[in-house]
Formats: sequence, C-alpha cells, structure tokens
Amino acid sequence: MSEDRSLPIKGVLNKLSIKDLDIRGKRVFIRCDFNVSLDENLNITDDRRIRAALPTINYAIDEGSKIILASHLGRPKGRTDTRYSLASVARRLQRLIKKEVTFLPDCVGAKTEDTINKMSEGDIVLLENLRCCNEEEKNEEEFSKSLAKLADFYVNDAFGATHRNHSSIVGITKYLPSAAGFLLQKEIEYLQGVVNHPVRPFVAILGGAKASGKIDVIRNLEDKVDKVIVGGGMAYTFLKAMGYDVGDSLVENDMLELANEIRKGVIAKGIKFYLPVDCVISQSIEPGAETKLVTTQEIPKGWKAVDIGPASVKLFSEALESAKTILWNGPMGVFEVDAFSRGTFSIAHSVADAYALTIVGGGDTDLAVNRAGVSESISFISTGGGAALELLEGKDLPGLVALTDK
Ligand code: AMP
Repeated sequence: MSEDRSLPIKGVLNKLSIKDLDIRGKRVFIRCDFNVSLDENLNITDDRRIRAALPTINYAIDEGSKIILASHLGRPKGRTDTRYSLASVARRLQRLIKKEVTFLPDCVGAKTEDTINKMSEGDIVLLENLRCCNEEEKNEEEFSKSLAKLADFYVNDAFGATHRNHSSIVGITKYLPSAAGFLLQKEIEYLQGVVNHPVRPFVAILGGAKASGKIDVIRNLEDKVDKVIVGGGMAYTFLKAMGYDVGDSLVENDMLELANEIRKGVIAKGIKFYLPVDCVISQSIEPGAETKLVTTQEIPKGWKAVDIGPASVKLFSEALESAKTILWNGPMGVFEVDAFSRGTFSIAHSVADAYALTIVGGGDTDLAVNRAGVSESISFISTGGGAALELLEGKDLPGLVALTDK
C-alpha cells in the first residue's frame, strides 16, 4: 500500500496531481530529483532524495503503471560519464522498494523506446542521467518530444529542479498531460502554503553567505512575518550598513544601502529585526585557526566573523520561544568547520525544540540540521536549495507553471 500523503494545507496548487491522472496500466514518466551525493567509489552517501520520491513511485506501482523514472545527477556536461551515472541509484532504489529496477544506459533513442515498449504493468525502468544529453539543459524541442514519446503521462516530482527551464521539467509538458507528484505537492504546500498563510507568530531565520541571496526573501515575507532573525555571513553587510566596524567579515559593499533600507522598512512595519550581538572571529577559516569571542561592535581588522556567539544564540532562541511557525534558511556560521559550527547547531536545536510548525529550506541548512542530529524533530525539510529560495522569494517556478491546470 502506498502511504497516505494528506497535506496539512490544501488548495495551494491549482495544477493536476498524480491522483487526477488515470495512470492504471499506462506508461508514466516520473521526473525525480535523484541528484544524490556519491563518494569517490561512486557509493551513495546520502539517499534522502531517493527516499523522498518513494510515495509517488509506490503509488504508481500500486496503480500497475509502467514506470519510467528519469533524473539528473551532477553536471556531466552533455557527455556520458560513469562518475555521473544513475546506475547506483537504480541499485539503491531497487533495495528500497524491493522490486526490480531496470537501468537503461541512455535516456532517449530506439533502444530505450524498444525496452519501454516491451514493459509490463508494474515494471520500472530508470533512464541514464538526463544531463548526459546536451539538449536537456537547453530545453531543446526535439529532445523534449523524444522524452514525451516514451510515456502517456508526465509527473514532476523533482522539486529541486523545478526552477530550471529544461526539457524534462518544462519542454516535455507540451506533449503530455502533466501533473505534480506527492513530493512536489508537499514542497509547494509548505514553502508556499504555510509560508504565505502562517499560523502566527511567524519567525523567519535567515543566514548563509551573502545578503544578496536572501534580501528578496525578506522582501517577500515582510507582510507575513512577526520577527526576522539574520545570522551567518549576510549579517555583516547589515551591521556594516549600520556603521559597525566588522573587520574582514564577509561584506557586500554594493548592498549596504539596500540592506539599511530593507532593515528600516521591516522595522517600520512593526516587525522585530534581530542581528548577532556577539560572534566567533578568526583570521582564517582553516580548521585549527585561532578564534576569539567578541561583541559585533569590536571585530578587529584582519579578523572575520565565522559564527554567532552564545549571547546571539540566547537572543535568537528567546525570539523563537513564542513562535507558532518558523522558517529557517541559511546557516549561522561556517558550520562546515567544527570550531565554527556551534552557533548553527544551537539554533538547529532551538528550532527543533520549538512548539511550532518548523520548515527548513533545503541546501546547506538541510545539511546543518542533519549534522546537528535533529532532522526528525523538524516538521518539513525541503529537498531543494535553489528552487526553495526562488519560491520563498515569491517567484514562479517554470516547471510548476508548465503543469496542466486543474
Ligand atoms: P548560502 O548558500 O547562502 O545559504 O550559504 C551557505 C554558506 O554560508 C555555508 O557554506 C557557510 O559556510 C557560509 N557562511 C555562513 N556564515 C558565514 C560567515 N560568517 N562568513 C562566511 N561564510 C559564511
């Protein structure tokens, strides 16, 4: 039996769902995001993206469809390359669903078509990495048609690639009835549904390297949030704009004016705006480098902020206490280095402990939450980095727009 994928908030998506298609016994092309990390021996080190696609795949199995799975993996630059082959994904998927998954060494062409034409109900094939064909990323018309020829229906369950204007995401939808899979629906329900209609108080925590990458998220959320917490590298652009001397911390000088404008605008709307009050500083981000703990008003020349300090952790954690909805996107420091990870991991624990609906926007924050060991306590962790950010910025995702309207 496939899992019941009831969603917490309904009606956000005005596009067909896989459940609206009559896929029983039919060929269904499911675009997944199997862009997993591999080690040097090509073993999968993290299979969460494969697991996230299982509800849709299991549903199609239950419906007795002929299932054609497709994905990208890394950047093979239009050439077949064993380092980017999906063969290991086929093996892992086979183990997870306890059903044979036939791996096809190409994604289009006579041989691929021939194998698919011979499929029986319930059979599953996985095509080779779509990006081994140059045409995929160019959304080339003939390639899109060749992909569409393989199936009767198209299902997009590749949220992490839905912001891409590629053949398997956009082009193919011109030729087939096209619907959203369960993972894609869930991502939209949380990142658009919950975020746009939050149970308040709603707190957004933003971090990561650059202010320029997150300014539009603040703009898009400013009529919905009650508090904005800014940490990570991006905080120092805001602090410098306020006249602080931030030493050699990461600063985007061309963003200073805008950062001030955004901060003042947010505060004028009655939203609380938090910045770090203390930080861990270092002269380099190498592991083992000397560190000091200082207030954000006294970062000396030659030193850069690499993590938030304990007073900031306390300030931010207290701000989360009354929250009913929390969105977190971007680490509080250079958490990849153990010595600079404490602030990020402490915030991960505060988010996980909050009595609130908690949403983590993919990419690095996903990794941070995982390393902090609190993934299980987060309501929803997005599988998409760039796609999640674009949704949070209020942008339309091309792959979503392309699906068939309800
Ligand atoms: P983003 O993709 O914008 O969310 O940025 C994530 C990256 O921001 C991570 O790789 C962190 O190492 C980096 N980062 C976080 N805080 C800082 C900081 N204070 N200085 C430099 N880089 C940072």
